[in-house]
Amino acid sequence: MAKILVVDDSRLISHVAKTILTQQGHEVILAQDGLAGLQAAKSEYPDLILLDLIMPVMDGYQMCQNLKEEDSTKEIPVIMLTSKAEPADKVKGLKLGALDYVTKPFDEGELLTRVNIQLRLKQLYEALQEKNRQLQKLANRDGLTDLYNHRYFHEQLSKDFLRAQRYHESLSCILLDIDYFKKFNDTYGHQTGDIVLRDLGQVIKDSIRDSDFAARYGGEEFAIVLYHTDGPAALQVAERLRQMVEHCDVRDRDNVLHVTISLGIATFPHQQIRYYKQIVECADKALYKAKRNGRNRVEGYGTEKLKIVN
Ligand code: GH3
Ligand code: MG
Ligand code: MG
Repeated sequence: MAKILVVDDSRLISHVAKTILTQQGHEVILAQDGLAGLQAAKSEYPDLILLDLIMPVMDGYQMCQNLKEEDSTKEIPVIMLTSKAEPADKVKGLKLGALDYVTKPFDEGELLTRVNIQLRLKQLYEALQEKNRQLQKLANRDGLTDLYNHRYFHEQLSKDFLRAQRYHESLSCILLDIDYFKKFNDTYGHQTGDIVLRDLGQVIKDSIRDSDFAARYGGEEFAIVLYHTDGPAALQVAERLRQMVEHCDVRDRDNVLHVTISLGIATFPHQQIRYYKQIVECADKALYKAKRNGRNRVEGYGTEKLKIVN
């Protein structure tokens, strides 16, 4: 059942509406002018508002306009209560955002039918919004690891990079890749390969701060963005993660697997990093250096002088 706000300066009309609606099991709140109605809308967040047009203090048109201007109240459906038969009034109200009108003195059946239509539409709209939220979440995530996916990673990093540039903040990007991953697939099967990916995703999630952000970049490659983090600090995070992966064995049903990763880091600000894609390119170069230099190791782009401090 719904919570319905009736805003009307006529006590008789309010009383009749309240009686009809409470008989249907709805909760009814009353307000006698637009200002009181607006306050009740903001504090009670009703499912529907029945709104008289001609009232003292603040009329229904003004209240409707104010409702539609506020984020917290703009989605509440409004049905105008009008005793006037002139179409111009109804049109004015509808243009201000009311969805329907009932002419007073109202017929019980008509009032209930119009109220039910708006309540049903509101339910459908909310269900649709929830579905959209779920779809949005799915669209941003990688199905296997539940980390963010490649597309979202680029979307987010491009915004974060601009902010770091504008506010002169440091920002580091780690790209990491599982060493000899193909052999897990080839030796134990694709499903075991998937377990390795999923477990690594979990280790990454557990090892970064809530404010940082990790994604599955593709295949067996992952990306981590560390905010307010300079080169030496990023190097420590990467080295800690490398050690965690090296020391945590992955198990499938029959085997204990020894997994290692190689990691490349790039940090903004840097002479060669002026655009967000360049930080990824530089981290990728560092990653390939880590592969070339023997794997299971961390390399930074343009940070040869940095030493890992444990
Ligand atoms: P390197 O140390 O040079 O990184 O060698 P590698 O074997 O890890 O790299 P390579 O690029 O040769 O192989 C990556 C493999 O990852 C090939 C591909 O079939 C596998 N792969 C990519 N995505 C998935 C996935 O979602 N699940 C599984 N099981 N395997 C995947
Ligand atoms: Mg690999
Ligand atoms: Mg790879």
